[in-house]
Amino acid sequence: MGTGTSAAAFLRGKTCLYPFLRIRLKCCHFIMKKILLVNPPIYDFAAYDFWMKPYGLLNVAGKLQGKAELSLFDYMDREDTSVKSEYDRWGRGKFHELHIDRPPVLSDIKRYYHRFGLERGIFQNHLQSQGQFDFALIQTTMTYWYPGIMEVIEDIKRFQPQCKIVLGGIYTAICPKHAATLGADMVVAGTSLDKLWQFLDIEPDINALPFWKGYEKLRMGVITITQGCPFQCSYCTVPNIYGNFTIKPMKKCLEEIDLLQSLGAENIAFYDDALLYRHKEAIMPLLHSIVARNLKTNFHTPNAMNARFVSYELAELMVASGMKTFYLGFECIDERWQNEHGGKVFSHELIRAVDCLLKAGADNLEITAYQMLGHPDGNLKQLEKTMQFVHELGIRIMLADFSPIPGTPDGDKCSQWTDLSEPLNHNKTAFPIRFIGEDTVNEFKDLARRLNRKLTGCE
Ligand code: SF4
Repeated sequence: MGTGTSAAAFLRGKTCLYPFLRIRLKCCHFIMKKILLVNPPIYDFAAYDFWMKPYGLLNVAGKLQGKAELSLFDYMDREDTSVKSEYDRWGRGKFHELHIDRPPVLSDIKRYYHRFGLERGIFQNHLQSQGQFDFALIQTTMTYWYPGIMEVIEDIKRFQPQCKIVLGGIYTAICPKHAATLGADMVVAGTSLDKLWQFLDIEPDINALPFWKGYEKLRMGVITITQGCPFQCSYCTVPNIYGNFTIKPMKKCLEEIDLLQSLGAENIAFYDDALLYRHKEAIMPLLHSIVARNLKTNFHTPNAMNARFVSYELAELMVASGMKTFYLGFECIDERWQNEHGGKVFSHELIRAVDCLLKAGADNLEITAYQMLGHPDGNLKQLEKTMQFVHELGIRIMLADFSPIPGTPDGDKCSQWTDLSEPLNHNKTAFPIRFIGEDTVNEFKDLARRLNRKLTGCE
């Protein structure tokens, strides 16, 4: 879709006064490159819209606004009129899904496998009806979701053979060699975008806001106010990908929030990996501004926050600014395990954080602590103890299935049990089942469900 950017509008405005210039400037307009932006479908055992938006792609596209003609196709957009979506009170819900055969690599995992997202034919129609694209930028996320990328590439090559394809995102950062085998013309393997701008031959507007205008309808959005993480948890890839921790200018964060609000987003999720780190410089001033503006947006923190940094003052500010759901990382109660795997948080810090949040007025049923299931150094007795501990704090448990990510110490350790050169083996449903057995996985999932139900008084 055309973006009606200010730069293009400025040029068009000038042409009214100078007919000769108009011809030339219109030509400039016509030679604007056409760029297709794609968030691919997901192939997995399970997927759920937990405030999922292709923020990386939207940021890149934002920098191209006014410099290219942009068209967004998000397979995971639940607002699309072709799907009937349901929403919980914070905008989350199920994706449209199609039951498909498991790939042979995952044939030992006796669970239903799905393709999630809009139907393939809709994208094929889009490719046939929108004229010729010069480039297609494809967002990648989980390494084991690459079959969705293959599907997109196959369709672009079939219907738009002239279009140059670029892959970027988490999968290409973790598995650049594998990504290079999928048939794209360029693979962006890190966070530097210099080579991308050269490839597109476009000078980006580096201060521009994300391309949220690409959506026809927006119910929720996402934001980051920082990048990177100063911790070095041995199971996490964030420090490898993002390098040093940095804070985004507050003015830009507020502009992003204003833009999302103006487009209809009632819920905004923070995607930061270390949202509360250096909180006096980052999140606290932002939340103070949000309170002062009396914004009516609901905020959420699906990426685990670090309980260590939750003081009463911060908790009170989070609640006052409209934060509704609080997710905290608490992998294991065993202090030795914590120390050996990054030492980001300990039991007494979780106790204090929960106490501060509850005193500040947070709903205990909206506070959740993540525990890890199927970690290679995990001890099942400790896991059960951890879950009971979290439950006794009066908050919810969420089991995060362990995914062996290559390049991380804990992921690499798993190469003795699974072939990490095949990204499908990084699947977070598959690894715990292979490592501790399906029955054990089911027992722990049942335990989590039971304890959570107890909290609500349903058991
Ligand atoms: S604190 Fe979180 S983001 Fe940072 S390294 Fe640990 S798990 Fe990763």
